[in-house]
Amino acid sequence: GAEFPAPTRTRVLTVSNQKGGVGKTTTAVNLAAALASEGLKVLVIDSDPQGNASTALNVPHGQGTPSVYDCLVDKTPLDQVIAECPDIPNLWVAPATIDLAGAEIELVSEDDRAYRLRDSLEAFLATQDTQFDYVFIDCPPSLGLLTLNAFVAAEEVLIPIQTEYYALEGLSQLMSNIDRIRDALNPKLHISTILLTMNDRRTNLSRQVAEEVRKYFKNETLRTTIPRSVRISEAPSFGQTVITYDRTNSGALAYRVAAKEIADRGTEK
Ligand code: ADP
Ligand code: MG
Repeated sequence: GAEFPAPTRTRVLTVSNQKGGVGKTTTAVNLAAALASEGLKVLVIDSDPQGNASTALNVPHGQGTPSVYDCLVDKTPLDQVIAECPDIPNLWVAPATIDLAGAEIELVSEDDRAYRLRDSLEAFLATQDTQFDYVFIDCPPSLGLLTLNAFVAAEEVLIPIQTEYYALEGLSQLMSNIDRIRDALNPKLHISTILLTMNDRRTNLSRQVAEEVRKYFKNETLRTTIPRSVRISEAPSFGQTVITYDRTNSGALAYRVAAKEIADRGTEK
């Protein structure tokens, strides 16, 4: 198989789209699993109180488990909450518990509330003997304080777009938020990657939406698209990614190819 090049420094990608159900979590965990399976060192930060990424990566995330909540609210060092993914080597997870739902309100009067995740991640990465190659931050479907923290902690934004009728709705709002955060809080933030998900090549609609996205995000959109696949949606109920659940599945293959494309492109877009 072709080699996945390691980046020269840690790449931090925020997987974001304020629409729910577009494939953010699925994309974060499967790209992470694909890269880790190729020997790259990967961290997934679950920043959604639903904890779906923690579920798919099979790490404990019941209430009381040390989690991203503790990092944000109590400034617990990230290394005290990170768990090793039991099924995939080279993959670590900062889990989310339902407590995270309260973090936005608990932080509301803190001056440094937008910087908590960045500071925590920077301090953690600096202490690593072997460098992390990738960090994926899985965001909730909103543009609140959790997403803001993710945008401040990352350089790259990865937007999964479902190829369906309302796909582009809300994107201009997301983009103006990213612009505003870049200007005010994080000059390096940019949309590096767009991934078309749940694609159905057979329908004209999917094709039209894909075309429109590619026209608008010419350099950012990956050539690879993720097909609709029942196996992808089944995997989390077994505490797995589709990469480990059914590695010959078309969805697993597509995520591996997308991961390779991301690795090959480097931080250039
Ligand atoms: P988000 O994190 O944006 O809310 P999810 O990744 O949780 O979205 O995906 C929403 C639902 O769609 C989940 O049930 C997931 O398993 C399913 N799903 C995601 N991608 C695919 C796909 N390519 N094919 C089939 N089902 C998918
Ligand atoms: Mg999700």
